[in-house]
Amino acid sequence: MVNYAQCPAPAWLPEGQKAELPWYPYYRDKNSMSAKYIFFTGGVVSSVGKGVTAAAIGRLLKERGFQVAVQKLDPYINVDPGTMSPYQHGEVFVLDDGAETDLDLGHYERFIDIRLNRACNVTTGQVYAEVISKERRGDFLGGTIQVIPHITSEIKRRIAAVSRTTEAEIVLVEVGGTVGDIESQPFLEALRQLRSDLGRENTLYIHVTWLPYIGATGELKTKPTQHSVRELRSIGITPDMIVARSDYPVDESICEKIALFCDVERRAVIPMVTTPVLYEIPLLLEKAKVGDYITHRLKLEDRRQPDWQEWEQLVAEVRREKPVVQIALVGKYVELHDAYISVHEALKHAALQLGVELKMLWVHSAELEKGKGWDLIRQAHGIVVPGGFGSRGIEGKIQAARYARTEKVPYLGLCLGMQLMVIEFARYALNQEEANSTEFDINTPAPVIDLMPDQRVISDMGGTMRLGLYPCQLQPGTIAAAAYGEKMVQERHRHRFEFNNEYRKPLQEHGMRFSGISPDGRLVEIAELTDHPFMLGTQFHPEFLSRPNRPHPLFVAFLRAACERAGVPYYQNQPSAHTEV
Ligand code: GLN
Repeated sequence: MVNYAQCPAPAWLPEGQKAELPWYPYYRDKNSMSAKYIFFTGGVVSSVGKGVTAAAIGRLLKERGFQVAVQKLDPYINVDPGTMSPYQHGEVFVLDDGAETDLDLGHYERFIDIRLNRACNVTTGQVYAEVISKERRGDFLGGTIQVIPHITSEIKRRIAAVSRTTEAEIVLVEVGGTVGDIESQPFLEALRQLRSDLGRENTLYIHVTWLPYIGATGELKTKPTQHSVRELRSIGITPDMIVARSDYPVDESICEKIALFCDVERRAVIPMVTTPVLYEIPLLLEKAKVGDYITHRLKLEDRRQPDWQEWEQLVAEVRREKPVVQIALVGKYVELHDAYISVHEALKHAALQLGVELKMLWVHSAELEKGKGWDLIRQAHGIVVPGGFGSRGIEGKIQAARYARTEKVPYLGLCLGMQLMVIEFARYALNQEEANSTEFDINTPAPVIDLMPDQRVISDMGGTMRLGLYPCQLQPGTIAAAAYGEKMVQERHRHRFEFNNEYRKPLQEHGMRFSGISPDGRLVEIAELTDHPFMLGTQFHPEFLSRPNRPHPLFVAFLRAACERAGVPYYQNQPSAHTEV
């Protein structure tokens, strides 16, 4: 069982309130579910873009003046994805309050430009852990605990928690997986109950399906969609809208057929053809009048006309042919790009603002150790070393950092990438080839990166790192301070190890600058080199707060340095639009 007692209290908990399982506070009416709900289910196959569809629909509603939040219900038994391998699950997305969540929450935050909280990602593991701990406490007075009503009630309680802990008027709830999976049944049953609990004008079911293309006859097929709607109906849910994803244009007859067989209004059958420009999806859905249909069905008042000008410009800029800047990302999960999705997105946002085209060079760190992949490193105009855990491929990343330092190639280190930049510099500056992090060499004579004191006593691995938003004070006159243009920033963290302060002075003497420090002066948050165009590492993860129209200033500064080194022309006068503190 997870030891919740060891998890830090979320920063947003009202002062004086104890952090109780499962954390979310009760400062809004406990029993009310005053919001309107849109439920997203998936049919036919997974990975058809249900998360992006939900995010884009959230944007449609935000553009109409509504406060929205999005929640992901994940059917797996893990309590959170924090302990899952990125190979299986992709990136772990971290929220302000330190929740370790599914990468879809990153889509939601970026698309809608909102900040979500811990209540927005629920897993089967959390639901069962809560019900079982209540049973052990005797809360059920000897009753038999069953999926219906105990598990489904706990799911509904957690759905209700979103509107209680946010200002959301409309909550979008996405169920992971595909209809028909054994794991997702309790979630679907809870959603079914919510229609009778809340009424038709407060709930809307959107089913996202896939239309396979048969090459031999050149047709799109609706049969799998029909079957998956039948499956959904057998659980008692009738979809109000069907979003039919396809790689090929969908003609009117297909839409009519889906409407007829699936008993959905024709205007609520929305064909969505794959687009290479992700940010075009809200525009496509707007054109298909999805926003109007939803506001009509949920009886939402007319607040304001959506204004898509900024998005249209964004999409036009993505489509414009631009000079290319090549960035190497050195990681150990590079085969699965989803493992670094926020880093990739943040780089794309920065590239958009600078008016350049990002070309990613994916470099496997373990290959570098074998002498392979160096041609990509040499082609790169800038190098990013992202976060990571465990010792595989570490020396390859350190070699990449050494190359960046000696060849004066712009370098951005994120969390682990910052720690490795420090290790590399210590090995060189202190002439200590054995300098290391105690994560990789417990007996190193020069532990420049070490376990945080409050981490030494922790034995549970889930949810126990230094997680979430913490302030960072910027030192005037540094690259970091110039990039942010602010004195104090708040950034999201996820780490167990940190810079060992015994090495601050010796490394400073050799040209390392600690440009971001926690306000109590204890923790190094940003390190940079003085004798280098841009070699900077952050203990936090700036990628989680980057937005398409508001790129993160450190990514912009890094990419600008990369453009300058490569002689790639870029928009010179674009100020960094990062305004959040
Ligand atoms: N493994 C390192 C730590 O725990 C870095 C973590 C990360 O990159 N997110 O401190």
